[in-house]
Amino acid sequence: MLNQLKLQQGLPIEIKIKDRVISRDNFTIIAGPCTIENYDDLKEIALELKTLGISFLRGGAFKMRTSPYSFQGLGIIGLEYMQQVCQETGLISVSEIVSLEDIDIMVEYIDILQVGTRNMQNYRLLKKLGKTNKPILLKRGMSNTIEEWLFAAEHILAEGNSKVILCERGIRTFETQTRNTLDISAIPLIHNLSDLPVIVDPSHSSGRKDLIKPLSLAAAAVGAEGLMIETHFSPTETKCDSEQTITIQKFRELLEPLKQIISIWKKSLN
Ligand code: PEP
Ligand code: MN
Repeated sequence: MLNQLKLQQGLPIEIKIKDRVISRDNFTIIAGPCTIENYDDLKEIALELKTLGISFLRGGAFKMRTSPYSFQGLGIIGLEYMQQVCQETGLISVSEIVSLEDIDIMVEYIDILQVGTRNMQNYRLLKKLGKTNKPILLKRGMSNTIEEWLFAAEHILAEGNSKVILCERGIRTFETQTRNTLDISAIPLIHNLSDLPVIVDPSHSSGRKDLIKPLSLAAAAVGAEGLMIETHFSPTETKCDSEQTITIQKFRELLEPLKQIISIWKKSLN
């Protein structure tokens, strides 16, 4: 069925957002908390990331939690904090859209709309997103094949929006030591099948702080176009995903070895 993918090759994959470009030639790092909890914390994280040269700030306002009793996100107030912090810092916002009914408000407040693992096959949502002009960060469904994931992207592309970024976030396997299993082979495989940029989320793939650095370096070593990492100045105090959220200090320590691997990868292409 892969030969039915019509729109993923020959695309001029340069996704311009304000003065930044996401492409095969740039390594994009998206960082920030799992969820937006209040203005002050988000602003502090944003300022720290900015000093480290990071341009993309993540944070969920509408959360898809397994339990209805877990924190569900701040909703529209969270979007307002995100917009305000990004206006004040010049960062680019990334936040998850969980439902068709939120599309207008998400488009108004957020720069890059994330489709989470649980919505990867919500085709009506994907089609609607294909009619917007926002970049879409499309996460891989936790139980979906690469073929299904690429077809999900095709639903967005077919409606006219070519600004799709794929995000490998781990798949369900029999392993219990990690939250999911990072499918590292998905990255070079996608490079053979599609021109879309593909980034890796080591946070949701592993669910463990101690694996963020090695998995991030592994992603760069196989040629991923970027990373999305959950980070916070005080992970133990976060309401969501604290066991996989790394401190800003740990995040900073990752950047230098990451640069080295990216440069080795680039040299290997010459
Ligand atoms: C997230 O990035 O906040 C998230 C919920 O991720 P996923 O959809 O991959 O679980
Ligand atoms: Mn999370």
